[in-house]
Amino acid sequence: MDIFLFIFGAIIGSFLNVVALRWDEKNFNGRSECPHCHKVLRWWELVPVFSFLVLRARCSSCKHKISFQYPLVEIWTGLIFLTVPYLMLPIFCIYVVITIYDFKYKIIPDPLVYAAIILSILYAFVSYDPIDWLAGPIIFLFFAAIWFFSQGRAMGFGDAKLGLSVGLLLGMAQGLSAITLAFWIGACVSLILMALSKFGFLKSALGLTIKSEVPFAPFIILGAWISLIFDLNILHASSL
Ligand SMILES: [Zn+2]
Repeated sequence: MDIFLFIFGAIIGSFLNVVALRWDEKNFNGRSECPHCHKVLRWWELVPVFSFLVLRARCSSCKHKISFQYPLVEIWTGLIFLTVPYLMLPIFCIYVVITIYDFKYKIIPDPLVYAAIILSILYAFVSYDPIDWLAGPIIFLFFAAIWFFSQGRAMGFGDAKLGLSVGLLLGMAQGLSAITLAFWIGACVSLILMALSKFGFLKSALGLTIKSEVPFAPFIILGAWISLIFDLNILHASSL
């Protein structure tokens, strides 16, 4: 049943939220608490999406706002479970954690991206023609060149490693489409941020300024997900 798969994905998503937020402490066992008043949450405050709606986005004891990140990630992970082949799910779960972490800290943790690369190699190994693996190294070299020539300003080296994983996982047609989409989405978001900052909207509403670095990994991962769902081949790549 699709609805159960979605709910299962949303539960995994609420777990991935915790993994990303506690990654630096390496403590995934403690009870979940409000980050503001440290009140330990009860079971009904931990139900994915549902709790956020029932609590109307506020902590039940201190009334501090709960971040939209929680339900967004839960819904997104639920949708991923509905749309991504089972064998790819572990890799996409890592991608979700990378997305949250890169948004927050503007960096991709090495252990996460290495785990994604290893799982992608395993996936490529069992799934398709070895020649199609070349998409991974090609995307890696492309990003690494941007990283090198911009001296790390336009792109982080972590993005190159993530590109390697995406290429290995999706192959030539979808992999190159994912990267193309990532640049398109990135450009759109940058334009929107620029327009919003003109009206001084960002500072007040989002606490962002246009100078603040925009993380790129979320765009790569969004591009990968969309290319996979719609089996895109934007660049009309043939698998050599
Ligand atoms: Zn609280």
